[in-house]
Amino acid sequence: MKWVKHHEIFLFLISLFMIFFSLWPFASGAEKKMVVNLVHKYLDINFVVQEEQKVQSKPEEPHTVEEQKITVFVYHNVRPFFLGETKEQDLYDITPENFEQQLIYLRDNGYHVISPNDLFVDKTTGKVVTDVTKPVMITFDDGWKSQYEYAFPLLKKYNFKALFYIYIDPVGAPAFLSWSQIKEMRDAGMTMGSHTMSHPLLKKLSDSDLHREVFESKRILEKKLGIVIKDFATPYGYSDDRISSVARDAGYRTLRTLFKGSYHDNLLSLKGYLVRDGMNEFISILNSN
Ligand SMILES: [Zn+2]
Repeated sequence: MKWVKHHEIFLFLISLFMIFFSLWPFASGAEKKMVVNLVHKYLDINFVVQEEQKVQSKPEEPHTVEEQKITVFVYHNVRPFFLGETKEQDLYDITPENFEQQLIYLRDNGYHVISPNDLFVDKTTGKVVTDVTKPVMITFDDGWKSQYEYAFPLLKKYNFKALFYIYIDPVGAPAFLSWSQIKEMRDAGMTMGSHTMSHPLLKKLSDSDLHREVFESKRILEKKLGIVIKDFATPYGYSDDRISSVARDAGYRTLRTLFKGSYHDNLLSLKGYLVRDGMNEFISILNSN
């Protein structure tokens, strides 16, 4: 009896699969893109969680007194909680209310939100510094549409500038930013950076594929937006010497990872913290040494 049940489920799944693929040729480009993105998003988010947790679990290196603390926050989706949200989405999403609370906290506690242009290397110590006190950088990964819908209006409300790392392939797909939204944010003073072409785990790529992901994404963003792209963030937050030297060759000035920490030895290896819902973790990151 049990076997029959499994057998029936199997046949049902096979039929669904066959119906799906017999309809596939008739689906419009937008529909195909949507399905591909849904699958991609599901696979991606699980992979992101695994890889980013590996990167973030690395202990922070000790820092010296000459270093300046510069906290870099990393956001993904900013959107209201929805029913059916997966555990990973819950982990990666932050609600607009929470995001606003965090911006208010920064404003009310004397933090200065800076852009990567405010970063430089101290000639004596060789460390990354800025001219302002209590510096914080707000960054967004992947180019999710929710960043335009929910985060951008709040950034404008509090007059904060942020850095958006875009990866090229899904631009214009349903869940992602369109070029016109990216341009509107650029015109409002937001910084645009590259997050590769296809969001691969860079350490696994051949030299030529790595080169393409890093160089080509910069070229396309520059052509589409008419600005020089100087900032790069690695997918999944991982980086190493090979990756940072390709980024340097491509002409990037900064590279952001997800290695934990707020003291930066190198503009091509900036550290960053993922932000989740709630204020406690956010405040403890700001207060950590
Ligand atoms: Zn990413």
